[in-house]
Amino acid sequence: MVAVDGGMPSEFRLLTPMLTGDTGSSRECFTSLFRRLCEHNQLSVIDVVVSMAIPISGPSHDRTYKLCNPIHLLNSGGTLSSRAISRVGQVTALEGLANTTLHNFQSISGMQPLRSSRYRRWCSLCFEEDRCSKHGPFERLLWSIECVEVCPRHHCRLEQTCHKCGATNFSVLLGADISGFCPKCLTWLGGYRDSLDLNSDEHVRYLQWIAAAFMELLDDSFDHESLNGRHISNALEVVRKVHFSNKASSMAKAIGRNKSTLSTWVNHHSAYSWLAACQISYAFGISLKSLLLNDEDALYFTHVRPLPLMVRASVTSIRKRAGTVSESSLRLLIEKLRNGEHSQLCTLKASASMLGVDQKTLRNNFPDLYADLALLLRSKVTLNRDLRKRARRLSLSIATQQVASDLAADFGKVTRRELSRRFGLVGVRPSWTEMAQICRTVRETVFQIRQGLNSGG
Ligand SMILES: [Zn+2]
Ligand SMILES: [Zn+2]
Repeated sequence: MVAVDGGMPSEFRLLTPMLTGDTGSSRECFTSLFRRLCEHNQLSVIDVVVSMAIPISGPSHDRTYKLCNPIHLLNSGGTLSSRAISRVGQVTALEGLANTTLHNFQSISGMQPLRSSRYRRWCSLCFEEDRCSKHGPFERLLWSIECVEVCPRHHCRLEQTCHKCGATNFSVLLGADISGFCPKCLTWLGGYRDSLDLNSDEHVRYLQWIAAAFMELLDDSFDHESLNGRHISNALEVVRKVHFSNKASSMAKAIGRNKSTLSTWVNHHSAYSWLAACQISYAFGISLKSLLLNDEDALYFTHVRPLPLMVRASVTSIRKRAGTVSESSLRLLIEKLRNGEHSQLCTLKASASMLGVDQKTLRNNFPDLYADLALLLRSKVTLNRDLRKRARRLSLSIATQQVASDLAADFGKVTRRELSRRFGLVGVRPSWTEMAQICRTVRETVFQIRQGLNSGG
């Protein structure tokens, strides 16, 4: 018997739901177990949360439906989940609840904490399989890992949206909730699948790789203390020697990072995010577990494969380092601009990117030349604007002559509307203010031409 503090009688116990019995990657996550616990006792989630004073209930006005905001942290294995677990442990016969969270992955040295997904995700085929089981549908711990986007068993994308009512991004636990059903329209969530093409799509293979990596980590019952992010740095050193002839820049390119990020990793100045670790494992074809356990043998069977395009686009772009531009190349550019080359080049930003650096680098390294360049470009912009104005005036005056002589020839009316039409025909569109001047000019010209015709005739 566990003594229960607070106002709760010690004999108060909740009935234990049918346990799934899975221990590996298909084990249940805490929020799912909690939901099934409430369901089994014919209580709503919010009732249990409030009556047990589990530290996940929101402010009192909010208790009607939603629980507090960072509820997904229940599955992460941090302080919030350990407090909730201890409360649940007091009123149920459930044991080993810590295994329903990701607590093993929160304090691995050299690694950032593993993030749990903010939203509920599910594999509808797994749900469909659960339908025939005694315990009913439940959510896997694997699905609550933020990096995991596909079900590694069924090769289909994890769902996030109810296909019937379109409701999406459910919180991992809601006040009124039934396992396996849409909280909004109560539709069964199983059976509907978004199939993925594993053979031809590179990005799908990548997602599958990540899901399988976490499945392997959850499946094996090894000592999690032995996992260490520092080993990734050793692995990177080996890979750099074997595949990139010791060149850090080419290796950085292969994993879509810049050289400075790589060096902060290797020198242990920053911890690896789990996503970065997954990308490194995919790019060199070495399993995440081998990376974290420092499997020396596996390192010599690595191979380099490019990250999918979508992944490379999502990681930060490769930063242009200062110092890659020399003073002479900047002088040469200024000289060329003075000689009228690069007629399209008008901004400092474009000039900097032409030299392969960002604008700030250029300004900081060569302030005097930068000022010269700015002056040159400004005068160029002014000159271009004047040229454009002059060209416009010229084309307007030619068009005006043309229109006037046409009008004089066919005795058309000189009205604004008629003029607009005729200017349109010659491909010029004068503005409203220009039109007043043009009207006067056309009238004068038409008058003069007709006079000339009359006197001539
Ligand atoms: Zn599945
Ligand atoms: Zn729905």
